[in-house]
Amino acid sequence: MNGSGQCLCGAVTFAAKGVESHVHACHCSMCRRWNGGPGMAVAVKSVVFTGEANIERYRSSQWAERGFCKTCGSNLFYLLMPARYILEAGLFHEQNFELESEIYCAGKPAWYEFAGGHPKHNGLPSD
Ligand SMILES: [Zn+2]
Ligand SMILES: [Zn+2]
Repeated sequence: MNGSGQCLCGAVTFAAKGVESHVHACHCSMCRRWNGGPGMAVAVKSVVFTGEANIERYRSSQWAERGFCKTCGSNLFYLLMPARYILEAGLFHEQNFELESEIYCAGKPAWYEFAGGHPKHNGLPSD
């Protein structure tokens, strides 16, 4: 499906194609620090941003960048370089997602749990 959304202040908006209907929640320490909680993200086939000048990119590993709005600080995406965008689920105008799985549960703090019978992986689903 197609989808669109924006950061908190609206300086960055996006239109995405091939938006997956399933969200993966990531409990790894990098997502936890970056988000202040678990990462909640959805993969897309392609995305076009407007307000690109307002996007700051942080190289969080050898293979990925994380992008955020310079003005309001909203987290926008995890980019598996060069072109695999995974967008923060909360940015989308339409919130008709389902929680598909939780990953990196080995790093999940004990003080919260997501309800539901979805798979929970200690690392990636393939691990
Ligand atoms: Zn913003
Ligand atoms: Zn993570």
